[in-house]
Amino acid sequence: MAPRKAAKPKTKPCPSCNGSGEVSRPVRVGRKRRTVGQQTGMCLGCFGAGEIPATD
Ligand SMILES: [Zn+2]
Repeated sequence: MAPRKAAKPKTKPCPSCNGSGEVSRPVRVGRKRRTVGQQTGMCLGCFGAGEIPATD
């Protein structure tokens, strides 16, 4: 077995939120689907961390 260097947790920026940890989604109302604004929510891709484990 080859000796390993200190194991770093490998992560990469979350593609869903581009590393911000938050995603904004348009808020639409009613019948006409009018967009009334934007709501920022926690990114479900990374759970707000902004990065996800890089799996090799
Ligand atoms: Zn994310």
